[in-house]
Amino acid sequence: MLKQLYDFLIKISTDKTKKIYIRGAGIQGQNTLVDLIEMGITVSAYIDNDPEKQKNLCSGLPVYAPQWLYHQDSNDYYVLCAMMNPQYYAQARKEMMINGLEENIHFIDISFPLRTLRKTPLPARLIPKPSTSREARIFNNAYRRKREAHVSMPKNFPAPVLPTSRINDGLASISLLNVWITTACTLRCRDCLHMMPHYKSTSHEDVEVIINNLRRITNVSHVHILEVLGGETFLHPNLLQILEGIATLSNIDQVQLITNETILPDMEVINFLKKNPKFLIRLSNYNGHTEFPSALDDNQQGDFSKLDKLCHVHRLNHLRRTVDYSWTDFTDDFRHRGYSKDDVKHLFDICGCATSGLTLYQGKLYICFRMISPYGLNIIPLNEDSSRDYLVLADTSDEDLRDSIVNFYYDTDYLTCCYYCDGSHYGSRKVIPNQQIKKQVHREMETI
Ligand code: SF4
Ligand code: SF4
Repeated sequence: MLKQLYDFLIKISTDKTKKIYIRGAGIQGQNTLVDLIEMGITVSAYIDNDPEKQKNLCSGLPVYAPQWLYHQDSNDYYVLCAMMNPQYYAQARKEMMINGLEENIHFIDISFPLRTLRKTPLPARLIPKPSTSREARIFNNAYRRKREAHVSMPKNFPAPVLPTSRINDGLASISLLNVWITTACTLRCRDCLHMMPHYKSTSHEDVEVIINNLRRITNVSHVHILEVLGGETFLHPNLLQILEGIATLSNIDQVQLITNETILPDMEVINFLKKNPKFLIRLSNYNGHTEFPSALDDNQQGDFSKLDKLCHVHRLNHLRRTVDYSWTDFTDDFRHRGYSKDDVKHLFDICGCATSGLTLYQGKLYICFRMISPYGLNIIPLNEDSSRDYLVLADTSDEDLRDSIVNFYYDTDYLTCCYYCDGSHYGSRKVIPNQQIKKQVHREMETI
């Protein structure tokens, strides 16, 4: 099926005589638009059942009802269906087939790789290198995240702005900066990207250290989205002080507090959020995955709707992520893979974690969030080359900081930790998200 999709995309990118429509004008459809633009494919319009969406342009394109489509000559267009919910795709597919369109000829499901549990991974070398620069991919990721916030927010929420160059107005562009504030979490997700269930004891980052480091970074950078996360963000005992400290910093457009929704924030945090609309809560939406709730105990299940209601009652800016139908299976295999230098650079080029933002943790900036824990837990060994994987803020003067960040973020072409990893790309093995395990899984230093 993946090959069918690949062939279909090649066909539509070379056949310039037909119009391209995206079925679904939601976040998934809009993300697809960004992907297609990146591939050099021009989209003419969205097709969507929702009459409200049909009244306005979406990402600058008209939105037509499916009935409009059926009045066009089906030899004149291709439809790419971009829906995260498989039931929506099934309904759209049935309706299009009743109206004489053929699957994989006139239309195709473009989102299925994101929903499918791929058990046999495709080797990274078979995944084509992206056609756009690392800089463009970093900017596109930021744009996606900002637009996701924009469409979920009240109408007056600022429209997304795409960073245009690595240095703007003398400041380094950091499209997405994660600040990791705690390793405590209420859940134990077996395939946690951050490896939370592997920590023997949890720790909370010091408020002063966090704010001092953020101040140094934002003095020389424009941060488009600052994500505050853990573990579970609301478990940090001094969260309010962290937020108050962040509010004093300049050059940050938007702050997102990531939560798995199993606990509620303190009333003082709620009051802070009410007064500071650029701070918003981002609900991870684990509950949307049908297999997930049964893995939790009664207390945890109850809190999902509580946080949602609380956001509505207090009119807190918040957004609910689209449901993950699958997660990348990073596995617990941290052996050196024996890649050549070319292999490791290719893996870094195709890996989604390599362009998804910088992360601040314990005074260091990392490009790859995934590999912070394997270093911290001594699972992969440090060597003389490991320093290319992170930027130590204490070792960098204020004068050099901006250029060091820019060079590190935009010009890194591989990380030494990539040698211990299979990466995350559309050919990766996938697992069911949010599977809970009973106990902590402590790891000891491995002999590699
Ligand atoms: S909620 Fe799950 S995935 Fe998120 S940090 Fe906690 S253990 Fe990891
Ligand atoms: S270490 Fe793995 S997840 Fe991180 S950038 Fe490299 S390949 Fe991607």
